[in-house]
This record gives sequence, structure tokens and C-alpha cells, in this order.
Amino acid sequence: MIKFIKKYFVFIILTIFTFYGFFALYDIHKKAMIVYKDKLEKAKIKKEKFDNCKKIFKLNKYDEALTCFNKLSKEYSDCELRHYIGWIYLKKRKYKQALLAYQYISDNEKENQQLLNTANKEVKLLKAKIAELKRLKRHDIGNYFSDIDRYAQWENPENIIVYIDNKYQKKELLKKAFMEWDNQMYNMINFSYTDNEEEADITASAEDLGELRKAAIESKAESAEVAVGLTTSKTYFYYKNPEKEYIKHSRIMVAYNDENNKPIEDREFYSIALHEIGHSIGMMSHSKHYGDLMYAGTSSIAQQFAHLTNRDVNTIRKIYGNI
Ligand SMILES: [Zn+2]
Repeated sequence: MIKFIKKYFVFIILTIFTFYGFFALYDIHKKAMIVYKDKLEKAKIKKEKFDNCKKIFKLNKYDEALTCFNKLSKEYSDCELRHYIGWIYLKKRKYKQALLAYQYISDNEKENQQLLNTANKEVKLLKAKIAELKRLKRHDIGNYFSDIDRYAQWENPENIIVYIDNKYQKKELLKKAFMEWDNQMYNMINFSYTDNEEEADITASAEDLGELRKAAIESKAESAEVAVGLTTSKTYFYYKNPEKEYIKHSRIMVAYNDENNKPIEDREFYSIALHEIGHSIGMMSHSKHYGDLMYAGTSSIAQQFAHLTNRDVNTIRKIYGNI
């Protein structure tokens, strides 16, 4: 027996090792299969969750989609996911959050070159935009009263009666814009609302862009051909005080659609409405500074944000302060 073992020692050892090796390999394989299956299962769950968020996104329910993507981003370090988040924040003009999302892609994306390029481009643009906003904020002081060449005022600004048409279902947005001015001008201008157009001091409505431009040309408005909003005001003077111009009635029109007959976005509509209301309460000209909402163009920073600057508010205050 000993002789036998001695003779086949190497063979026996080899056999033992081979069996051991086989079982070890089998075990490794089995474990690997489990891990692989687990991975597949996890990827499947992730895809399902991701698809669900994308489905909401495709329905243009951006707030809901954002909540969905943000929740997922806590679980997954996925760059494509961040791309959706960045895009929505960008649309919402939440530039700091958008920057965070795109910066993440910029730092972490290794494979998808297109995604990386887009993210790098956005990071650059967003950084410039945020710096510009900071700069504008620092300058948002005082007023531009000395820059405006014409202004007028309501004789009873504490009670201006407003009629809002519900054409194209824009009544709520228009009202929101009136309320914003009302809040900003507290104790100087108050709007009350009526359903009777006849008794209104200011009437406001959403209009078809073509109709609006026709009206703008007829009223010989400034830049009528490119107007997206129009305010026409009837004014009067007192014989004894020809310096002061008073408003009798204002008519506000805001385009609900663009040149391609597509409805314009709510934020843009709201921003134009804010601008036109500014005219209807006495600002008969424009700010010369592109940072203000009452700037003549339609793409100033404040207009993009649909945000009245302190300067806009202070200038109207100054007009009424002169009474
Ligand atoms: Zn204007």
C-alpha cells in the first residue's frame, strides 16, 4: 500500500487538486452567475424606473419628471439621468441647479462623448450666465426715471379697475401679472377686478399674434412689426397743469402664439404681460438697460426670468411719487 502511494503519489495529489480545482471553479462560476443575474435584475429595475420618469418627461410634466429623476439620482450615479435633470432646471431657469447637474456629467462621463460635449458646453454657458446675473443684481438699485422720455399716471391709482378676458384660457396668468405689480406697488397702486368690460379702466386679453401686430401698426406703435405685446392708452391733460399726463383707459394685448402659430410658453406670456402692465400704469417708454423687465427688447435677462427689477418698481414709484 505504502509502495502504491509512493508510486502514484504525484498522480493522487494531482487528482485531489484537480477535483478541488474543479469544485472551486464551479463554485466561482456559480457565484459569478448569481452576481451577473443580480446585476441584470438591478439593471432591469433601473431601466424600468428610468423609463417611467422619461414617460412623465415626454408628457411635458416637467415638475413631476424632475421629482422622479431627482429621486433616481440619489440611487444611481447615471450621467444620462443628470442630463434630464439639467435640461429641466435650465428650462425652469434654475441655473445653479442646472449647473450642478451638467458639472456632474462633465466630471463623470467617460463613454458617451456626445453627452460629455453637451454638458461641457452647458457648464461654460451656465457659468457665464450666473456671473452675469450676479453682476446685474449688484446694479439693480435706484431707478431709471431720468432715462424715460414719457410717462403718465392714473388719477386714482389706489383703485384701478381691471377687466381680464379669458381668451385662450390666459385669464389666470394675466391676473397673476397684475397681482405681482399690485404687490410690488403696495400702498401706491391697487387693482380690483370686474367682469364688466364697460366699467374697466384697464382691459387685458391674450390675442393672436397676427391680430396684435395689425392693431400695433394701426396704433402706430413703436416696433409694431415685431411686437408680441401691445398697450394702447388714452390719456388727458388738465388745462392748468399741462405738464402732467393722466391715463383714462388702457388696453393690453399679449400674444398667445408665436410666428409659427405655436402657443408661447406660460413664462414668456407672463413676462410680456408684466411688461405691458408696466406701460398701462404709466411707463410710456422703456428702460435703456437690458437687465430690466421694462427694457424694449424681449430677451433681456429680467424678461427671461419674468422678474420685475427693483429699478422697474422704483421708477413707477417715482412717477407716482411725483403726484
Ligand atoms: Zn414695451
